[in-house]
Amino acid sequence: TASRSKELIEIEEKHGAHNYHPLPVVLERGDGVYVWDVEGKRYYDFLSAYSAVNQGHCHPAIIDAMTEQARTLTLTSRAFHNDKLGKFNSYMTSYFDFDKVLPMNTGAEAVETAIKIARKWAYEKKGVAETDAQIIVCDNNFHGRTTTIISFSNDENARKNFGPYTPGFIKIPYDDTEALEKALQQDNVAGFLVEPIQGEAGVYTPADDFMRRSKELCEKYNALFIADEIQTGIARTGALLAVCGKCTCEGSCERQETYARPDILILGKALSGGAFPVSAVLADDDIMNVIHPGQHGSTFGGNPVAAVVAIAALDVVKEESLAQNARELGNYFRKKINEYIETTDTVTLVRGRGLLNAIVINDSEDSDTAWNICLKLRDNGLLAKPTHGNIIRFAPPLVMTKEQLDECIDIIIKTLKDF
Ligand code: PLP
Repeated sequence: TASRSKELIEIEEKHGAHNYHPLPVVLERGDGVYVWDVEGKRYYDFLSAYSAVNQGHCHPAIIDAMTEQARTLTLTSRAFHNDKLGKFNSYMTSYFDFDKVLPMNTGAEAVETAIKIARKWAYEKKGVAETDAQIIVCDNNFHGRTTTIISFSNDENARKNFGPYTPGFIKIPYDDTEALEKALQQDNVAGFLVEPIQGEAGVYTPADDFMRRSKELCEKYNALFIADEIQTGIARTGALLAVCGKCTCEGSCERQETYARPDILILGKALSGGAFPVSAVLADDDIMNVIHPGQHGSTFGGNPVAAVVAIAALDVVKEESLAQNARELGNYFRKKINEYIETTDTVTLVRGRGLLNAIVINDSEDSDTAWNICLKLRDNGLLAKPTHGNIIRFAPPLVMTKEQLDECIDIIIKTLKDF
């Protein structure tokens, strides 16, 4: 690591809480699929800020919208109306086809919002006895870092010594509709909160019909099907949403019949193209209308900068056919990596959908091989991060071209050959 980078890392670590373990690289600029470090070295970004930068770094349309609004009006709070929130609400609900939207800022806040809505719906619409509502979640889930959310995590590192934990969650194995049906048979279940693909767990991709069957079961037992699409949504997996098939491919999507419309949809990350924290929860009136004034909110939620940024970011997704690009490039990427896997013992498999992918390294969970590969990838001009000891996620911005992806595949294979 060069001296300026070293200095900046040292000052960050000396004065900042050690709640992250970043790859040693200090970035100062981004443009499209590229980022540059403080020494001027250029990298392909293969993390996209955990899938927040789907539209590419500093997309001009998003940055223009943001800076213009920032000069005009940034925050009113919801104590007053602002002239952009209505536009955001009508744009979002027509884009995703729901009656209502509730804006927040971070992903974890949006998940908390969905939990509150689901519980209130259970008491007021389903008739569950007060304080009895249960929400079904999956093993190895990742939904954020608040005290309630980590209460239903099974990552010991994320949980230990943060108790007492919030009750009201039932855990079942991921991708197990039998276990889901059994859990749904309790009549106090408010809903099933699920990631269509488990990103943080290592891009764990369930059976093609898991979402559709989950939705059917939720319907059968009168529970809400709650999709956390914070990481998978907004074109990342080759469709606008990983669950609903309302993609920008205008009906040519081969997975359409396997998708399911959530009762509550949770979005974040790429909702702003990484420019600004924007998250949202969408639902139809019979569900969203359980929330009344004073029962939920956020000082920054629904601010005019967030509103215009989200509209610009979602415009880009459609105008640049990002879902289609992610699908085509993703298929190509997995094909190329699979061809390489045939020839090596270093990598055991590649999995994913669209441009949300991971490779599994042929080493134990607690080895540092994946970390060392990521250091070498960095040296070779590509930034990625292990999700676990032996899993590396590959999630570049969706504005990538085939030529750029070919160059990246060359870097990845060349690097892996050294291990
Ligand atoms: N849900 C999922 C599926 C995520 O991947 C993440 C972040 O990685 C979150 C929730 C939390 O989002 P945030 O970090 O914005 O709170």
